[in-house]
Amino acid sequence: MKVTFPHMGHLWLVLKAALTGIGLEVVVPPPCTRRTLELGVRHAPESACLPLKVNLGNYLEAKELGADTIVMAGGVGPCRIGYYSQVQREILRDLGCAYEMVVFEPPDVHFNEVWDKIKYLNRRPWQDGVHGVVMAWLKACAVDALEQEVQRLRPREAQTGLADAVFRRALQELDAAGSRKEVNRVVKEIKGELAALPLKPDVRVIRVGIVGEIYTVLEPLVNLDIEKRLGALGVEVVRGLFLSRWINDNLFKGLLPLPGHHPEKTAPPFLNHFVGGHGWESVGDTVTFARRGCDGVIQLAPLTCMPEIVAHSVMPAVQQATGIPVMTIYLDEQTGEAGLQTRLEAFVDMLRRQKGVRAG
Ligand code: SF4
Repeated sequence: MKVTFPHMGHLWLVLKAALTGIGLEVVVPPPCTRRTLELGVRHAPESACLPLKVNLGNYLEAKELGADTIVMAGGVGPCRIGYYSQVQREILRDLGCAYEMVVFEPPDVHFNEVWDKIKYLNRRPWQDGVHGVVMAWLKACAVDALEQEVQRLRPREAQTGLADAVFRRALQELDAAGSRKEVNRVVKEIKGELAALPLKPDVRVIRVGIVGEIYTVLEPLVNLDIEKRLGALGVEVVRGLFLSRWINDNLFKGLLPLPGHHPEKTAPPFLNHFVGGHGWESVGDTVTFARRGCDGVIQLAPLTCMPEIVAHSVMPAVQQATGIPVMTIYLDEQTGEAGLQTRLEAFVDMLRRQKGVRAG
């Protein structure tokens, strides 16, 4: 069995650790590129959500590397994630691409099924498997901690790109780390290197929260590297969605020691219930960012993403009540870099002017 999975931001590193930890041979899909997207777009229904198309491209590219089994998350609720796997299975079958699919539905709804699938995949004694899962968790926390530091540094570093270069090396070292001690060593050393980077003198940054659908928030190919673009424009990006937080909220019901997402507390009265995907979180996090003094919020969504459309529809009320400007960006395979850059520059300009006015 050679297992692959969707490539989403730095998720590959975490899934690789978990799946190799339970004794599986893993084929990491190549990082998402225009080719990945083109492959997916060619074979998926035009109206499908963008993540479905990119994932399909991941599976086709992983097939070329010998993968024969896909492990992916399913979903329940009002959006289309619940039938992604069925649609993808049919498309791959029509293409003559033989794949076994193991789909994990949310554990709070299908606990026995999740357990049966873990037992089916596990190839090791349980204590070894648990070690692999613990390593995956530690790596997720390490990636997130370092990425937050990079987000803080991007608008402040004297030479654009240095923090990202250090972070890329950190990902390789974390991938190779085989014990808690090594993970801790990498985090300590990389934090030290980041802290030593030269900074611009007297820089005045603005802070922008990023909210939205998880794939568009975490995958740089899909969002055209929006965080780096904002960093280069002098913006410190903050977000609520990180891998470790997603794992904690969705797989461990918020029991691990991390600050959780609590849209049920922050989204009302603008949005009072779960609407699928991350729509509820988008609204709740926007309110949180306004309370924490962010200068603006950017909501990212795949074109036609229903949960984010619902969130988008209440954003004017959130803006009016909290005073925080919100810009929504829908992304699909047609989204161009020049258009996105122009919109970001205009939004950042407006935020800077507002901040200047507020400062007096
Ligand atoms: S959250 Fe949006 S993009 Fe994701 S499956 Fe649901 S509708 Fe599609």
